[in-house]
Amino acid sequence: MKTINEDGLMSSTNARRNQSILVIGAGVIGCSLTRELARRGCEVTLLDSGEVGNGTTAASFAWVNSNGKEPQSYAELNALGLHAYERWSAADRKRPWFHQIGNIRIAHGDQQMDELETQVARLQEIGYRAELLPLDDIAEMEPTLNLRSALGGAYFPSEGWVDTSLMCSILVNEAIESGARFMPYHRATALTENGVLVSNASGIDEWFSSDVTILTAGNGIRLLTPAIGVDFPTLPTAIDASHEPGAITEHPTVGMTCTTTPITGGPKHVIHADTVSMRPSSNGGVTITDHPTASQWDSADPALWQVPNALLDRARALWPALDSAEISTATIGNRVLPSDGVTIADWLDSDQRYYTVATHSGVTLAPHLAETVAEEILTGTRHSSLIDFGLQRFNDLATEVQFQN
Ligand SMILES: Cc1cc2nc3c(=O)[nH]c(=O)nc-3n(C[C@H](O)[C@H](O)[C@H](O)COP(=O)(O)OP(=O)(O)OC[C@H]3O[C@@H](n4cnc5c(N)ncnc54)[C@H](O)[C@@H]3O)c2cc1C
Repeated sequence: MKTINEDGLMSSTNARRNQSILVIGAGVIGCSLTRELARRGCEVTLLDSGEVGNGTTAASFAWVNSNGKEPQSYAELNALGLHAYERWSAADRKRPWFHQIGNIRIAHGDQQMDELETQVARLQEIGYRAELLPLDDIAEMEPTLNLRSALGGAYFPSEGWVDTSLMCSILVNEAIESGARFMPYHRATALTENGVLVSNASGIDEWFSSDVTILTAGNGIRLLTPAIGVDFPTLPTAIDASHEPGAITEHPTVGMTCTTTPITGGPKHVIHADTVSMRPSSNGGVTITDHPTASQWDSADPALWQVPNALLDRARALWPALDSAEISTATIGNRVLPSDGVTIADWLDSDQRYYTVATHSGVTLAPHLAETVAEEILTGTRHSSLIDFGLQRFNDLATEVQFQN
């Protein structure tokens, strides 16, 4: 039974402290949630068909922000994600993955400058840290940046980026220290009323039963839920879509990030400029993606492999220090995109056996979702920030794709 309390929090009487929980999918969401549940004393098993953090998380630009997100409830959810990183970092020195170095956005023409002014004013109104930057200040903050064609910019000091590989592995290790089990190379193949069928790397099947199963399998969720009668409302990935009637070749979920070989004199901040975004990388190089990050690539088109060098050329125009660098890795990712563009965090079934979390901007959101989803599962109390992100909305919603990072 569900009730609403004085703080507007939705409570149900199904409290589940100390129960056994299976988490399917060890991306940034599954790792964060597993660590949170283990910390709270649950018996948790985390499994993944591959290794930790190798899904969409591995391809992420991993910019932590709530900059220009819509609607307002989604902007607030992302702001809570950013605050959760700040809280986690302040409380514990073992949080070296969050680099809160600020974000500089550069305007190259009158229209971009006008848009930036409007954006800064709007963010300042809601208390988000944002300020306009004259060219001289940008030059002081980023002395090796070529500002020849720039008009000005804006600075968002609370934003940053995350080393997702480090984050996922540290969180899983902490979960294991708190008693959790992690099983890589274990693929969930069927959901049933009585448990989950899992196939290991040798093809041996095993049944897993638990009080609650949490699906954090990213794009894998929609492949699992038809077995329990749910058509999960995320967009099919390019690979899934190619098997479906009316297959499309260009696909909105496909995105790419590239990392260069190490350089000296690279960006000190996250940088968004005309057609390209950049940030420092943990290998001493620069991670580059397109800007806005909404580009659509066809993952089957060999021309896709020209994209890394095209992005590097764009980045070099801003950062001459990149002239000596080469692309060291290029990663294609399939965005996890609910069909209306914003987060899903909700029970799948009325018996509350299966809970799902599927979201774009999952790097920004992971710590906040971990805390609030763990709280909902264990106590039955739904955090007010999650109220707009249930599955109920898909019953009467026209689906329209939006991209936001
Ligand atoms: C190009 C690009 C740029 C992005 N930039 C940003 C950004 O700047 N900021 C931001 O906040 N977000 C960004 N995102 C979005 C963000 O990366 C994702 O929202 C986030 O990584 C999703 O994490 P996840 O844990 O839900 O899914 P995933 O990382 O995909 O993890 C799911 C895991 O489940 C496993 N799995 C799947 N099926 C099964 C199964 N049947 N059995 C067992 N395991 C299974 C997979 O192996 C995988 O490890 C970007 C995404 C892309 C593609």
